Amino acid sequence: MIGPLIKGLRITFGHLFKPAITVKYPYEKREVAKRWRGRHLLRVDEQGRELCCYCGLCEAVCPANAIRIYGMEDPTFTRSDVGKIAEIYEIDYRRCIFCGFCAEACPRGAIVLTTDYELAEPEREKLLQTKEVLLEKR
Ligand code: SF4
Ligand code: SF4
Repeated sequence: MIGPLIKGLRITFGHLFKPAITVKYPYEKREVAKRWRGRHLLRVDEQGRELCCYCGLCEAVCPANAIRIYGMEDPTFTRSDVGKIAEIYEIDYRRCIFCGFCAEACPRGAIVLTTDYELAEPEREKLLQTKEVLLEKR
């Protein structure tokens, strides 16, 4: 009985004078791993053209059915370098489980997950991430 008590007290006192490992969020931000799967980002090339070519792989692979895409032709190649763009690209954060499958499936690296973990919104409807919100160049 006394043995475990002493052992417990030794651990308690051992941690008493160590620096705190908690952070004062939101004044201090936690550092996360580089591979953290947070907010999505739709990437663009050096000319600012969208990398997404509306292949639909991310939508097909998503296990939560959280992605909705509607594509269109871009004959002038002004908005993309392949002649097709996703006119509508939405990710529903009410469904997304941040598995990262969409980013892994994308053949052009157009959709990536960032380390931004501040995703809370006051209203559920605002959790629908539209293309305008997701685009890197916004
Ligand atoms: S992270 Fe996973 S659940 Fe979320 S949109 Fe991508 S594939 Fe779907
Ligand atoms: S984000 Fe990638 S996988 Fe999804 S439609 Fe665009 S190019 Fe295809």
